Amino acid sequence: ITAKAIHQMERPILPKVKNIIAVSSGKGGVGKSTVSVNLAVALAKTGASVGLIDADIYGPSIPKMFGVEQERPSGLVVDGKEMIHPVEAFGVKMLSIGFFVSQDDALVWRGPMASNALKQLIKDGFWDELDYLLIDLPPGTSDIHLTLVQTVPVTGAIIVTTPQDVALADVIKGVNMFRSKSVDVPVLGLVENMAWFTPEELPDNKYYIFGKDGGKDLAEALNIPLLGQIPIVQGIREGGDEGTPVASDETSPMGRAFLELAANTI
Ligand code: ADP
Repeated sequence: ITAKAIHQMERPILPKVKNIIAVSSGKGGVGKSTVSVNLAVALAKTGASVGLIDADIYGPSIPKMFGVEQERPSGLVVDGKEMIHPVEAFGVKMLSIGFFVSQDDALVWRGPMASNALKQLIKDGFWDELDYLLIDLPPGTSDIHLTLVQTVPVTGAIIVTTPQDVALADVIKGVNMFRSKSVDVPVLGLVENMAWFTPEELPDNKYYIFGKDGGKDLAEALNIPLLGQIPIVQGIREGGDEGTPVASDETSPMGRAFLELAANTI
């Protein structure tokens, strides 16, 4: 065995990444990926170098939200090791399980396969120097969460929820997991998504479709910072579908909202 091989074995994982942040949710469909993408873009707007790993095997939607679902990451060799060049969009370096499998395959994956795929995206991705590496996790509590904390030192977790009671119940489970001895990751804060809706023709009205302040109140009860409340906005959904995240226009109201979220996160 060569000295170089030994060096490679001992090389710490992601030595040049300053903060590794897990983005999690209790339930699916609450906007975890939408928040991950826009938070990543907003962090990049502040001048930080940002990476994003899409580890949501049950619905790897991030390439589509960045408009790069047709792209494939290229390979490169670094110090004799084959690595994967992340795809870059809106100032964010990104890798997704979705680049390597079709959506239909992803749905039938077993836990260990998914865990290995996440490890590969972390270890074989050429992330280089980053201020923030965001990891968009699958909803709930899973093997993937454990794999992540066993693979890299996670700085903290952000939890995304809607204000709805059924979503909040699962947030508590998620917070307990992050606070458990086996995971032990600080919860940096909670994002309340879909907090209200304001129709264009009634700009002064707020309709609390999923309930009012559910995330805010829960954050208080669990002693977790509330990082922000994001309303239901058609443009957020459209930006996701079209591959142009709203955060990419920092002069728009939603662009500013995500910049504020980024400022509260760092
Ligand atoms: P998750 O990652 O939690 O499964 P997604 O980010 O995929 O959720 O969001 C689910 C759906 O809701 C998507 O169609 C997305 O465009 C939409 N969505 C998320 N947040 C908002 C919001 N604040 N306003 C409008 N639509 C949203």
